Amino acid sequence: MIYCKANANELVPASVLFSNQTQPADLPQEAIGDYVNGCLAGGVYLPKSGAGFQTMRPSRNRSWAHPVLKSFIEDLGSKVTKSGFPALLIGDISQPRGGPMDGGHLSHQTGLDVDIWFKPSPKQELNLNDREFLSAETVVGSFKSPWVNENFTEREAWLLEAVAKDDRVSRIFVAPPIKKVLCEQTKVENRSWLTKIRPWFGHTYHFHVRLACPSNSQDCVNQKDPPTGDGCGSELDSWLQPAELAKKRLAQKPRTKDKTLSDLPLACRNVLGAKSQQK
Ligand SMILES: [Zn+2]
Repeated sequence: MIYCKANANELVPASVLFSNQTQPADLPQEAIGDYVNGCLAGGVYLPKSGAGFQTMRPSRNRSWAHPVLKSFIEDLGSKVTKSGFPALLIGDISQPRGGPMDGGHLSHQTGLDVDIWFKPSPKQELNLNDREFLSAETVVGSFKSPWVNENFTEREAWLLEAVAKDDRVSRIFVAPPIKKVLCEQTKVENRSWLTKIRPWFGHTYHFHVRLACPSNSQDCVNQKDPPTGDGCGSELDSWLQPAELAKKRLAQKPRTKDKTLSDLPLACRNVLGAKSQQK
């Protein structure tokens, strides 16, 4: 039977097509679509080690970013080191061409999302084995005492404030008890950055930083701004009450089916079909 490859691709889950890409598309650098339904053209690789950071889980090949995110991580690494705090461990960013992932995140599709571990980096350069198998550590306590634990220190609070005050950042996702402690610690005259700290499921081992669309990515779709205010009142309370939390879980959209190429922005077909960047 003869059928063309393009048609065959229509039936394959987009997560499979994008996860199979091992090199970035040789196209102008652009974030395309939105964080949960998009892709990345001209992705750049975040080096395994830089000033103030080391990347983790290299076998996943998810250290690809839009250049604005790469610069953001490098700037943050320098800032952390200059402030005298231990360096960062960087988790997943995006696949070489972004897009949906075969396992793991719903977002991280456009090269603008990064997970940063709460656990500080050891001083020494990590070898490949460490990067693959070193465990992350939670900063939130047990079910019986669901508040931040001793792993949430001055460093982590400083880090979240520094990230939220960066103009490139649109949102930071953390577990609700983390937002709670920041709300309690922050002085009245300095609370506007708390808007960007968003309570969400999970996010006890890492925080998730989301950048706004870069100005030259015309097909990039920003998420709606968070509600005004510091988000420390009833909104946060609803995340800290088990009954309310259960309702939120139920209201979450189930993952009904794997998306195919036709669900993604049209430009993502070019990203998938483009030749690879020359090394
Ligand atoms: Zn994430």
